[in-house]
Amino acid sequence: MKLATRMSRLGTETAFKVLLKARALEAQGREIIHLEIGEPDFDTPSNIVEAAIKALREGQTHYTPSAGIPQLREAIAEEISNTRGIEVHPDQVVVTPGAKPIMFFTILALCEEGDEVIYPNPGFPIYESMINFTGATPVPIPLLMEKDFRFDIEEFRSLVSPRTKMIILNSPHNPTGGVLTKEDLEAIAEVAIENDAIVLSDEIYNRILYEGEFTSIAQFPGMQEQTIILDGFSKTYAMTGWRLGYGVMPQWLAEQVATLMVNSNSCTAAFTQWAGIEALRGPQDEPRKMVEAFRQRRDIIVEGLNRIPGFRCLKPKGAFYVFPNIEGTGMSSQEMEDFLLNEAGVACLAGTSFGKYGEGFIRLSYANSVENIKKALERIGEAITKMQKG
Ligand code: PLP
Repeated sequence: MKLATRMSRLGTETAFKVLLKARALEAQGREIIHLEIGEPDFDTPSNIVEAAIKALREGQTHYTPSAGIPQLREAIAEEISNTRGIEVHPDQVVVTPGAKPIMFFTILALCEEGDEVIYPNPGFPIYESMINFTGATPVPIPLLMEKDFRFDIEEFRSLVSPRTKMIILNSPHNPTGGVLTKEDLEAIAEVAIENDAIVLSDEIYNRILYEGEFTSIAQFPGMQEQTIILDGFSKTYAMTGWRLGYGVMPQWLAEQVATLMVNSNSCTAAFTQWAGIEALRGPQDEPRKMVEAFRQRRDIIVEGLNRIPGFRCLKPKGAFYVFPNIEGTGMSSQEMEDFLLNEAGVACLAGTSFGKYGEGFIRLSYANSVENIKKALERIGEAITKMQKG
């Protein structure tokens, strides 16, 4: 049986592959510290869990409208209006099972052969995968350590062409923790408007920000009509397994994305949507406490990594990842990923899992306990020192 050709263009997320390798070692009795997967180690706040249970008991177990229940779309419109300083109508909101389908659906709906899409590299691997899947041409923009993992705006301008259909942004950024400045966003907005390019702004980490206020590109004049905001509940409310996310976009596009929902999922699970309303409108102290815990862990891991010979690590401004440069060890990214898993019992990801410009780096997620982070640092330090002596 022959697969459709388009399947050969689809990529994947290697975090799940590394998790499998780590689990296989665990099955042999090895103890592994998991710093590979990007999810909060906290439990979902209890008020949200209770809201889901209540919804289930009240019979919220049926199909819902494809774009989401009106009450949640309204709560999301209100949330985005308040946090992004723009006016959003519920008709511009599409609720999906996790935020990832917003990438899938919007890239599928807008991009095709002949189009070019500019996207961050290193970056979330699904962007490149989906661009290739649609037959459009991926145009990577390198993120540079010497620019705090932002990109060079002049280089960005040079990559724009009359074929540029979409620009993908992700700030705070996975895997580097970098944050684009207001000036960066303003310059990008100008280019997007001049070239009539749509911006897919992945803002899933907007609340996990350690300094300053979050700025969305949608805030700049004329940009709301040209921006898709991708956001969700997975990271902010520790709800990765619930599968609840959303996109906010011009209404004409929201209608098309809702049609893709009809053709795929039909709708997002009803009771998780009711829990989403509680997440947005209920008390916000739990997500705030999580960010404070991430900040403490960030400081510990950055300090520890910088003490390891051959490692250089910036202090990230957002998200819960560090992206140290490991070129000083003489190993490639993939060699380091394998070495740390096998010799130190620490699972992490090669920078190249996020694209070719990730060579020379690894990604560690610090969404883990302080105790585990300290143990991982000790083990990495010992393994590297032993390797260098040997
Ligand atoms: N965008 C980025 C940059 C991410 O890192 C992730 C998850 O890892 C997502 C989107 C997807 O989030 P969700 O779990 O809501 O699908």
